[in-house]
Amino acid sequence: MTGGSKRWTCVEAGCSYELVAADVPSAIQGAQRHIAEAHGSFELEEMIEDVLEDVPDSAAGQTSRAARSPGKLRRG
Ligand SMILES: [Zn+2]
Repeated sequence: MTGGSKRWTCVEAGCSYELVAADVPSAIQGAQRHIAEAHGSFELEEMIEDVLEDVPDSAAGQTSRAARSPGKLRRG
C-alpha cells in the first residue's frame, strides 16, 4: 500500500476548493460532501479518485489552504 495524504481539487467551473485527506476513502468522503453542500450535486467515487494527487508527508502539515478540511472537524 502507498502511504501519504491525498489532495483533491474541485473541478467545478469557478471553484478552486481543495482539501487534503489522510487516505483515499477520506478524500472521497470529503469531496462528495463538498460537491453536495457547495454545488448541490453528486460526484462518482471513480471521478474523484481520478483527480486525486499524492501529497508528500513532509508537506502534509503545511497546507494552510486545506485548513477547513471536513475530515478534521469531528473529534469524538
Ligand atoms: Zn467546488
